[in-house]
Amino acid sequence: MTLATDSTIDRNQQLFDRARQVIPGGVNSPVRAFKAVGGTPRFIQRAQGAYFWDANGKRYIDYIGSWGPMILGHGHPAVVEAVQKAVLEGFSFGAPTEREVELAEAILERVPSMDMVRLVSSGTEAGMSAIRLARGATGRSKILKFEGCYHGHADALLVKAGSGLATFGNPTSAGVPPEVVQHTLVLEYNNIQQLEEAFALHGKELACLMIEPIAGNMNFVRASVPFMRRCRELCTQYGALFVFDEVMTGLRVALGSAQSVYARSIPGFEPDMTVLGKVIGGGMPLAAFGGKRAVMEQLAPLGPVYQAGTLSGNPVATACGLATLKEIGKPGFYEELGRKAQLLISGLQGAADKAGVDFCGDSEGGMFGFFLFKELPQNYAKVMTTDNARFNTLFHGLLDRGVYIAPALYEAGFMSAAHTDADIAETAAAAADVFKLLS
Ligand code: PLP
Repeated sequence: MTLATDSTIDRNQQLFDRARQVIPGGVNSPVRAFKAVGGTPRFIQRAQGAYFWDANGKRYIDYIGSWGPMILGHGHPAVVEAVQKAVLEGFSFGAPTEREVELAEAILERVPSMDMVRLVSSGTEAGMSAIRLARGATGRSKILKFEGCYHGHADALLVKAGSGLATFGNPTSAGVPPEVVQHTLVLEYNNIQQLEEAFALHGKELACLMIEPIAGNMNFVRASVPFMRRCRELCTQYGALFVFDEVMTGLRVALGSAQSVYARSIPGFEPDMTVLGKVIGGGMPLAAFGGKRAVMEQLAPLGPVYQAGTLSGNPVATACGLATLKEIGKPGFYEELGRKAQLLISGLQGAADKAGVDFCGDSEGGMFGFFLFKELPQNYAKVMTTDNARFNTLFHGLLDRGVYIAPALYEAGFMSAAHTDADIAETAAAAADVFKLLS
């Protein structure tokens, strides 16, 4: 028997085995378990800039960035300094602070469709609260969402099956009683005809329509401009609130978020409510929902809609968010971020073309996505026709070569300010190698 040397011990596997004894599936959020792609999840030891290192000490170029928040890259000095200072001043008070006011003001300045905002601790909490507020403000029960859009794991929103018109209530998780989702209507993304028919049937009962404007939970699928315009018109016509879930896209695709991108094509375009998360907390647990004053003033303590949180507006999280917002507000930030995301997509496209592999990709600001298709998909049904085995080969091929993309084919990717052109070239070279296995 030979004794294993350090280099033959897989610390990731050891930690995963240990984790599975005490944490369901070994992870605290399912996608981290690599269930879709197989293999051993990497346990991250530390991160800096565009990289992180796993428990074996292997370095990866990180295109997940904690699923979006790390827009500056890891360990940005100004953010670290702000967090360190805040920690010394106190972790949590359960009482208001000046920093919360500053962060609320900073968010409203960047996303001016909102008059007021409330800070919470997760995107799920923000989305769930926005729905309650929409229902409370309109006195209506029904909500409309789209297949493939994820709005957090609140019961009423865990519905994506049932693409048929007037199909209510097919929970996609055990533990969600059908009665809880009986008011949730699910339609196909980018399908104007279905949208019009649904409003004709149910428009007057709808509290809100909630949408991911660029759906990052089916990789990267844009709502078309005509579809978005029609959503806005129908919500206005029927008195339903138009809720933009910008947990992922907010301050990620542009400083003014995805709504500012649509306003370039639809003059005066605004949602009624916006849900934010990820970037506004810079990697700390922080999210928000906001909208017009008359609606927001329905919230407790002013109005009858209850919502609360022990850690809401946490002083360390708000310090992290404020420092992040300051950096991303610097001139040229999004131009440079967008240039790098495009450079990555064109590098991957070039590598795929050379190998004769079907590939297409898209990006907006610092968010990107790509598919092993000839053309960009328009809805969830098409996204789900991706060949899992081919995607898994791509994923593991890149991972082996030190490039970490999302371990699931229906997730977006994220560029950070810390990624360099050299990182992107290294990624394209790794992809060129892997595409050979797919051609
Ligand atoms: N909404 C969208 C669009 C998201 O992408 C996510 C999470 O990825 C959420 C809501 C839920 O946010 P959280 O994971 O912070 O609860």
